[in-house]
Amino acid sequence: MKKNDDANTSTNPYRLPRTVIPKAYQLRFDVDLDGAVFAGTAEIDVVITEGIAEFALNAAELAVSAATVRINEREIISASVTMNDEFETATFRFDETLPEGNATISLSFTGILNDQLRGFYRSTFVDAQEVEHVIATTQFASTDARRAFPCWDEPALKATYQVTLEVPESMAAFSNTNEISSTTLVSGRREVCFAETMIMSTYLVAFVVGPFEASPATDVAGTPVRIVYPIGNGHLVEWAMEVAVHALDYFIDYFDIPYPGDKVDLVAVPDFAFGAMENLGCVTFRETELLIDPSTASHAEMERVALVVNHELAHMWFGDLVTMDWWEGIWLNEAFATFMELLCSDDFRPEWKKWAGFNPTRDMAFSIDGQHSTRPIEFKVVSPDECRGMFDVLTYIKGSAVLRMLEQYLGGTVFRDGIRIYLKRHAYANTVTADLWSALEEASGQPVGEIMDTWILQGGYPLVCVEGSTLTQRPFEYTKASGSSNIGSNWKVPVMTRSLDGGPVTAQLLEAAPLVVASDGVTLVNAGGSGFYRTAYDSDGLAAIAERLSDLDEIERAVLFSDTWASILVGQSSFADLFVLARGLIDLDEPSTWSVVVRAFDMANRILDEADRDALAAVVQSLCAPLLARLGWDPIEGETTQAGELRAIVVGALGAYARDEAVVAEALARFDAGQVSGDLANAIVAITMQQGRLGDLETCEQRRENATSPQDEQRYLFAPASSGDPAVVLDTFARAFSTVRTQDAPYLVGALIRNREAGPQVWKLMTERWDEADELFPEGSNVAMVAGVMTFGAHGQLAVEVRKFHETNPVRVGQQQVEQSLDLMDLHVALAARCKASLGTDLRGLSH
Ligand SMILES: [Zn+2]
Repeated sequence: MKKNDDANTSTNPYRLPRTVIPKAYQLRFDVDLDGAVFAGTAEIDVVITEGIAEFALNAAELAVSAATVRINEREIISASVTMNDEFETATFRFDETLPEGNATISLSFTGILNDQLRGFYRSTFVDAQEVEHVIATTQFASTDARRAFPCWDEPALKATYQVTLEVPESMAAFSNTNEISSTTLVSGRREVCFAETMIMSTYLVAFVVGPFEASPATDVAGTPVRIVYPIGNGHLVEWAMEVAVHALDYFIDYFDIPYPGDKVDLVAVPDFAFGAMENLGCVTFRETELLIDPSTASHAEMERVALVVNHELAHMWFGDLVTMDWWEGIWLNEAFATFMELLCSDDFRPEWKKWAGFNPTRDMAFSIDGQHSTRPIEFKVVSPDECRGMFDVLTYIKGSAVLRMLEQYLGGTVFRDGIRIYLKRHAYANTVTADLWSALEEASGQPVGEIMDTWILQGGYPLVCVEGSTLTQRPFEYTKASGSSNIGSNWKVPVMTRSLDGGPVTAQLLEAAPLVVASDGVTLVNAGGSGFYRTAYDSDGLAAIAERLSDLDEIERAVLFSDTWASILVGQSSFADLFVLARGLIDLDEPSTWSVVVRAFDMANRILDEADRDALAAVVQSLCAPLLARLGWDPIEGETTQAGELRAIVVGALGAYARDEAVVAEALARFDAGQVSGDLANAIVAITMQQGRLGDLETCEQRRENATSPQDEQRYLFAPASSGDPAVVLDTFARAFSTVRTQDAPYLVGALIRNREAGPQVWKLMTERWDEADELFPEGSNVAMVAGVMTFGAHGQLAVEVRKFHETNPVRVGQQQVEQSLDLMDLHVALAARCKASLGTDLRGLSH
């Protein structure tokens, strides 16, 4: 059975009729970088499935010629072509009926190289010698292949592609497959032909043209791997290569399927709207996600590159080889790749303890998914625009967290076996979510579909309540629902428990009925920390666990702190409870747990008035100063990566919230001496900027211009967001609309809105330029600006205005994410309203 015969295709106006099915595209593009235009031809082998006098395919912002259809040596030319802008189609009509059978369609077309960072687009970069260069590149996901060539632009209509590019002689050109020929034409231009691709979806086609260089190839099981970069960046590729070689090897083994393409190029693109894109064999990246200098970068920055490279390479199988049938399945692609990036990273560097490190990220999903406005991970998608709104925390983070929960419940090997069955069964084809569950059921004998439907098809997550040895569940809610709620009611919860006095981990399924767990001493629920739920112990149980903090694993401790933070947000625990608990962490190098504590510092810092901030300073000092005394300012020979990360957290907290004079002085001295690298780099820059000294903005600007790595460039670009001087923040806001690259600008504005002192002012200015931002910034990225408002907890009155503005001025793509940010803002407003009067006194109580 072919799944693309789904009834959906005949009723959904965004889907094409199945009267013509593409099989093989031959595409030729003549690229004019200076004129910012291209001309193309397409020869498409198709199967006509019934006699038709017209057919439609997707095309947008293209001028398309008449179609010539070759059937049995006859050529039939279309009588008319009609473009439809709403559905982005071109319909060709004929004076006679085209008979069913094989045919070849020829088209020629022209288009512009746009500056919107989608479709086939153009951008520029300036090299170290101040020379400006032009590049052209593609970004087709989700539905922008149609902006480069007329095609059946749906994931289920898979075909092969043979791409030929005509480019200026001096330019390099890359596509999904190996180059098979390069010829200099009489015009002096160069024609580059690439091998035919495997059968795949249109959104995975890619080509890149410009002054790029490629690293030497490393062979991984017969596949050459290269890093491709804008000229002059050859010193920044070693780390990505090391990561990629491991990842490719790891996935070939994990999936038990050879790499499906003929080569892997990882390409750094100077202007890129997303983080990276999994085009088969020609993976494109934002420069910061690929190019890095290990001698100056922080651990977090190195890890970021590793995770993104792992993620994209996992997609070569999960997404590229096996693809969702329609866009509602995109969650599975993204959730799985996010899950695999962590699993692969844990294999690459087990000492990073990446699953514990995932906890703070996962908390973002918990905080959004505990709101009544949440959504199920999977929901019906009609238009591609709705799909663009799916690229959020719930898809990537909640999705990967519930897959991890399932993997831990089934066991790693059984889970992997199920994935192998799924990929082998559906290679080169398309699937729906249920196909994965049935493969996992086959491998495990467990009712995987029944379990997972409760996590995927309803929003929210449970609160597991522990009374003695009895577990029950109810929906976790931050607030009582005032209207309709998307939070579900009952889950099949894979619960892992263990006794802190020893013994094995027990896995059980908690359903609607209470579950009694074997209890031998102190019982820990969510053992191993992979459960996507919150746990509420009775007071005796919690006290017993708090006393045995050192018997927990790092991830279990991090989860306990996250559960406590959630309990503060619902008004069941206080900031003081969390800070008392944190006293038990002072001997532990655990950034994942400490980052929850620092989240509480930051929230308290925003809630408290100036008069009470000394109370917070004393708490921060008492918790963090002993850590800094132990860790020191400089790396200790042989220390763990966690120690380095924790040092950065502690220095940052002492500078920002304790205003520790010695820490500030040391940070300023290092900033002035240009000693800004490694784990402390961001903390040093932030502390310096917080002081609001004259001239530091100019220093940052200079260092940004002269930066020798993308990470340094970003560091100094974002530095003003930490400034204690509102004038600096406002000045930077203005630059976001002029000199800052559009790939960065919306994120910079979001960071400026988070500025404690000037954030509200920035938000107001942003509303005045709302339409301009919509025009200027890449589609869908305005949500990054709005995300900053979740820090407005202390501004209850403004929050009303903020909500009103964003509800009456919706973004075109991602309004659901905007709503999520507004809900988080309101949650923080409620927290601030509840705590404000007593917080200072509570914190003073702690220092006595
Ligand atoms: Zn992805």
